[in-house]
Amino acid sequence: MKNRDKAFETSCRGIMKGRLVCMKLDELQKLIYEAGIVGAGGAGFPTHKKLSEQVKTIVVNAAECEPLMMVDHHLLHKHLQELVDTLEILIDTLGAEEAIIGIKGKNMHLLDESIVAKLKTSKIKIKEIPDIYPAGDEVVLTYETTGKIIPEGSIPIMVGVMVINVETIYNIYLAIKKGQPVIDKYITIGGDTKEDITVKAPIGMKISEVLTKSGYTDLKGKAVINGGPMMGKLVDLENDVVTKTTKGLLIFPEYHQVIQRRRMSPSVTLKRASSACCQCRMCSEVCPRYLLGYSLEVHKTVRAAANGTVSDTESFLQNALCCGCGVCTVMGCQQMINPQGIATEIKGALAKNGLRRQNNKAPEKVRDERASRLVSSERLIERLGIKRYVKKNVERRNVEFSPNEVCIPFSQHVGKPASAVVKVGDMVKVGQIVAQTEYEALGTTMHASIDGKVKAITDRFVIIGKE
Ligand code: SF4
Ligand code: SF4
Repeated sequence: MKNRDKAFETSCRGIMKGRLVCMKLDELQKLIYEAGIVGAGGAGFPTHKKLSEQVKTIVVNAAECEPLMMVDHHLLHKHLQELVDTLEILIDTLGAEEAIIGIKGKNMHLLDESIVAKLKTSKIKIKEIPDIYPAGDEVVLTYETTGKIIPEGSIPIMVGVMVINVETIYNIYLAIKKGQPVIDKYITIGGDTKEDITVKAPIGMKISEVLTKSGYTDLKGKAVINGGPMMGKLVDLENDVVTKTTKGLLIFPEYHQVIQRRRMSPSVTLKRASSACCQCRMCSEVCPRYLLGYSLEVHKTVRAAANGTVSDTESFLQNALCCGCGVCTVMGCQQMINPQGIATEIKGALAKNGLRRQNNKAPEKVRDERASRLVSSERLIERLGIKRYVKKNVERRNVEFSPNEVCIPFSQHVGKPASAVVKVGDMVKVGQIVAQTEYEALGTTMHASIDGKVKAITDRFVIIGKE
């Protein structure tokens, strides 16, 4: 991997004698856009569109709250100084007052003590957050780190906050320091495996090949989740490739509840809801956004959807407030109904039709019962039935993947897909731009992750093969 990294000579931008220096906001935005940086924690929001002079507090999402995920742990442990240097640039460039690294107390040992000691006199603070799920949800994290509640249907900047993931900051560092765009993704491979590892894989490489080359060859009777056990999606091993938001590849037996929950079709979910939902409200009572005071009551959605009550529009529109965390399904419902599945389905339909529920009102206070209903990671792991898959040690391993072909997706982010800027037959070098969304639109830039020839351009990919 060293040679691959060396492909990027140190860029002059943002560097003075090896030290990172302050940049102008529009200069930094352009650099981040050109480097193709989007939220690496899973959401994929184009990062340059988040930067604004209205940001007063930068909240670093170091919660890594999905069980079995170890990417941010690794980066915090190995690259804290680089993260701190980059945060200083962001603070200066945005004119922010502070940056707060929100990390679970149990993970404080990952941080280099000498670097942490130096932060005492800086604008960068470390805030220990509770070991709960979903601590990394931006609404929960903003509350836990700043005490502020983001208004319903709104975004963190409404309360002067920008939430940014650890790997995203590291990608900004690489872009400034080395002129390196996003061509690789850190991924934890784990689950029903002898050992779990974190690897760095080229964007566009087939997931099946990443697993095979990492030594995970026996997938008979197993399925793979892209992401964590709560919010990850089933992998299509024939077709799926690594994207800028792939964070984990978790392998589970087919019969495991984590897989079965995802295999259940929306129609079966609705049939089950109409026959078994007793309207006990437990799904709503444990919902982290409800507990923060949001008017999201998913049991009403289940009732309206199961009974086909289309006149109750509020029960449908409220799903725009759902973060898809799955707590309602895993910790709330005792009837094997999947409220998360119903809420996510409806949220997707709302977004597709441009429908939003936006009252921009922040709850006046969190609900009194919140403290007693927070879901600890330990309880979640028990309930998910994955305790036996939690390893003591997750190694960071250098695997020389060197794929012969990569498929660079046009859409790896929130917003408008990119369009190809190369044509079939072009020779491309690693790091070269192959697709781009125009700067003014919500989108980003895609790069070749290997040297090679453009073999094909489809409606979804630029396909590059080694000569
Ligand atoms: S917890 Fe289950 S049974 Fe109770 S209201 Fe929610 S979906 Fe219905
Ligand atoms: S998935 Fe369920 S628990 Fe999570 S925010 Fe949505 S309704 Fe609430």
